[in-house]
Amino acid sequence: MLDLAAYEVWFVTGSQHLYGPEVLDTVARHSQAIATALDDAPAIPVRVVFKPVLTGADGIRRLVAEANLDPACVGLITWMHTFSPAKMWIAGLEALQKPFLHLHTQFNREIPWADIDMDFMNLNQAAHGDREFGFLAARLRIERKVVVGHWGEASVQAQIGTWTRAASARADWQSGRIARFGDNMREVAVTEGDKVEAQRKFGFAINTWGVGDLAAAIDATSDADVDALVARYLDEYEVVAELQPGGDRADSLRYGARQEVALRGFLEAGGFTAFTDTFEDLHGLRQLPGLAVQRLMADGYGFGGEGDWKTAAMVRAMKVMSAGLPGGTSFMEDYTYHLSGGSDDVILGAHMLEVCPSISRERPRLEIHPLGIGGKEDPVRLVFTAHTGTAVAACVTDMGQRFRMVAAVVDVVAPEHDLPKLPVARAVWRPRPDLRTGAAAWIHAGGSHHTSLAFDVTPEHLRDFASMTGTELLVIDEHTTLDAFRDQLRWSDLYWSLGRGL
Ligand code: MN
Repeated sequence: MLDLAAYEVWFVTGSQHLYGPEVLDTVARHSQAIATALDDAPAIPVRVVFKPVLTGADGIRRLVAEANLDPACVGLITWMHTFSPAKMWIAGLEALQKPFLHLHTQFNREIPWADIDMDFMNLNQAAHGDREFGFLAARLRIERKVVVGHWGEASVQAQIGTWTRAASARADWQSGRIARFGDNMREVAVTEGDKVEAQRKFGFAINTWGVGDLAAAIDATSDADVDALVARYLDEYEVVAELQPGGDRADSLRYGARQEVALRGFLEAGGFTAFTDTFEDLHGLRQLPGLAVQRLMADGYGFGGEGDWKTAAMVRAMKVMSAGLPGGTSFMEDYTYHLSGGSDDVILGAHMLEVCPSISRERPRLEIHPLGIGGKEDPVRLVFTAHTGTAVAACVTDMGQRFRMVAAVVDVVAPEHDLPKLPVARAVWRPRPDLRTGAAAWIHAGGSHHTSLAFDVTPEHLRDFASMTGTELLVIDEHTTLDAFRDQLRWSDLYWSLGRGL
């Protein structure tokens, strides 16, 4: 469902007329070659589009205006091949509404020691041309990523690729639509937030729809659609006998299929990118949606339980950032601890039902069990254990005068023991640097109990994403110490209180 090839970044080169038309022709040829190489690089999932070399303020302003208006363009890559006096960039950069990456590179990899002359020096002077441009961006205090190295290097292309993934997630947020069935869970604090400010800052619109309308859509689904979907379930999952056609509770699975047909239809018709529901508002629904939510998440939708639209937005953003990569992303909740006091201290993460099968290590089992809350019929759900590996758990909270992202780097491990009586999908992980430091830092930061857990998203993706969305980001990883982290929270509060006035 998510395909980043629909997005593009524009490769923009700065130069000037000082060196004559032949030099500018060469600059254009070189830039085209670099743009083509980046476009072909497997690490860069979006298209890289060459744009004609810029030599003056009018051309820069025109290009920025086009970039601002083009929904496919998620950002600019800038590079000053020759010396490019930077005053001509002032108006353009101040008008730019999309993120940019400053690629500090050079067409030639090595100095041609035996042949180098002043013509070569004047052509290949990004070493100081990019410093002039860098000064201006710093003077204007514009957030951007700076990547240094030869454009053919794998690590350079990987950093660019990471940034394009973050830029794609930002673009997706800008046009995002989040549907809420019901409000937040009553009395819960962290799932609240300023929806107007979120739309102003992040772009996505958050609005509510009556769960009764969804109930009506569920009741209106056709038997043929339900038959086809149940057949897919039987094909994709280990379906317990009682849910199979002819089984005692086959009707419960058919109702789960009706929920998926209706929810999917609603989300597609409305152009939604994420959604929430709550067990406290299920009027007219027979089950809390479990299976349907899990499958919609696997297809790329963001989701948050208990009305948590901020986590739904994070799940969506991290799914866009990791589109096409194998690790998976899920709505998650820090549920319970193993506190032995040693290095085997771990967190068991799960939710009532809604964990995305994109993180499963196995073919999920489709089961039915009672749910202790909500007062409805037993819901159908996929049960599985997450695969192992390094992952990032991240949330966004509303601190009152700003949004804050918190991200923890964790190692998802295989559970030491089977969990034969646990009726939900689960992941077991060890936070870095250890559970006690990681959890204490998270709590000091006010991170939520709901997170988005993603295997192919790294702190670098989130730093790029936070930078381009103008959001505070606190990362908890193997380098975190509690004292330094608490100090960082104090400095960060000052920065985000004073920073607007800079
Ligand atoms: Mn929850």
